[in-house]
Amino acid sequence: MYKTVIGLEVHCELKSNSKNFSSARNGFSDIPNSNVSVVDMGMPGILPVVNKGAVRNSIKMALAMNCNIPEYLTFERKNYFYPDLPKGYQITQFKHPIGTDGYVNVFANGEEKKILIHDTHLEEDTASMDHYNDYSLLDYNRCGVPLLETVTEPCINSADEAVAFLESLRSIFLYTDTSYARSDKGQIRCDVNVSLMKEDATELGTRVEIKNINSFSGVKEAILCEVARQTEILNNGEVILQETRRYDEGLNQTFTMRSKEDAIDYRYFTDPNLPPIKIDNEWVKEIKNEIPKLHNERFKIYTKEYNVNEKDAYTIVRDKNVSDFYEECIMLLNEPVLISNWLTGDVMKYLNKDSLTIMDSKLTPKMLTDLIKMIKDGKINGKQGKEVLEKMMDTGKDANVIVSELGLTQISNEDEIREIILSILEKNKNLVDDYKNGKNVFGYIVGLIMKSTGGKTNPVITSKVLREELEKL
Ligand code: ADP
Ligand code: MG
Repeated sequence: MYKTVIGLEVHCELKSNSKNFSSARNGFSDIPNSNVSVVDMGMPGILPVVNKGAVRNSIKMALAMNCNIPEYLTFERKNYFYPDLPKGYQITQFKHPIGTDGYVNVFANGEEKKILIHDTHLEEDTASMDHYNDYSLLDYNRCGVPLLETVTEPCINSADEAVAFLESLRSIFLYTDTSYARSDKGQIRCDVNVSLMKEDATELGTRVEIKNINSFSGVKEAILCEVARQTEILNNGEVILQETRRYDEGLNQTFTMRSKEDAIDYRYFTDPNLPPIKIDNEWVKEIKNEIPKLHNERFKIYTKEYNVNEKDAYTIVRDKNVSDFYEECIMLLNEPVLISNWLTGDVMKYLNKDSLTIMDSKLTPKMLTDLIKMIKDGKINGKQGKEVLEKMMDTGKDANVIVSELGLTQISNEDEIREIILSILEKNKNLVDDYKNGKNVFGYIVGLIMKSTGGKTNPVITSKVLREELEKL
């Protein structure tokens, strides 16, 4: 048996108004080639300028991944030719990346694991290419968009761990508000390095790099299929070639792109147009203070302190807006489990039905907690509560308004219930006699009471008072 070793290189486009080194708009989905400047096209004599907002977002991510921030940043040129790279080089970071030696904790297969981050660095995206039968189209809108590349150590040991890391990373982007991180729009993409080693080996095996996988499920499948391929080669006593492969999702197979012998020499050197940038400590502190409590920390609080089950806690922390909503609810009503049940149950069901997010919905934390309070105080029962919730989410009206519109309030006042019971017993003397003669009519009488009030009397109090009155008679 072999141990699987995986290292990931994750590229993610950052939120920003303009591109990383030019003033063209960061608007990839606009009309093709409408957001392009001479800088992005690599015209002679251009002078790139570093986007401060992108540096800020990168520092925020680096801090959230527990990285060290260098005193100075440098930007290097990575030289190679490709049609999606009109300058003939990509501006990236090589010598002094924005973050080094960090870690991200992930939960995979019921265990917590620390994934080590080698570094995270700021670079520019390339143009996008659409390939047709005998020609390709280029859209330079994406050319120069700020891209943060995060490189892990080879410390990931399964496809599940790799996916858990990618999901964590995406959460961090969303919680820090530094990227939309949408894989369906190609904003987060991944290179996967895979090798196998004997359980007792001390050195890593030869790695294969699988380039540019767009979806997390694709990453999982690519790893599983590459592990199977390498296992078979090793079992046949053959050796793994160090190479770059691509993964075909349709065929669920990887194919050779190039071997290490064709490895490109990128001739990195510091971009002479971009002087080193000093990172001010005060600025770093300020950025650090803007980082909210992240999903992992919230997950721990919800499960350990609030006793919410792991599945529900995960559902809540997955989306920062849901998690913020949940925490606002708890500030209004200290019933974390009850709120979690409503939020992950009926509220989510309603939202999913119409593919809405919590932000689109008319429900506010106050509306939800008011409803839960009404149920807790016995004003309405749980079943009525579900009906009220749906109406609240349809209309945006408060719980008490809907309850009175629907005429739902539950009668919980003991004296009021006693009066109703006495009048019913008065009218049904035969049933009282039956009861005294030991006939099983108790449930039937409760039914009569419920019927006479349209089901509004609190069932527990009704039973208690009825028994008292029957005993007295
Ligand atoms: P390169 O610059 O050629 O891509 P790096 O040394 O920077 O090479 O490694 C890139 C990625 O490959 C990192 O994520 C690293 O963790 C991973 N990696 C390195 N060696 C191995 C290995 N033997 N097995 C799996 N992954 C590896
Ligand atoms: Mg690489």
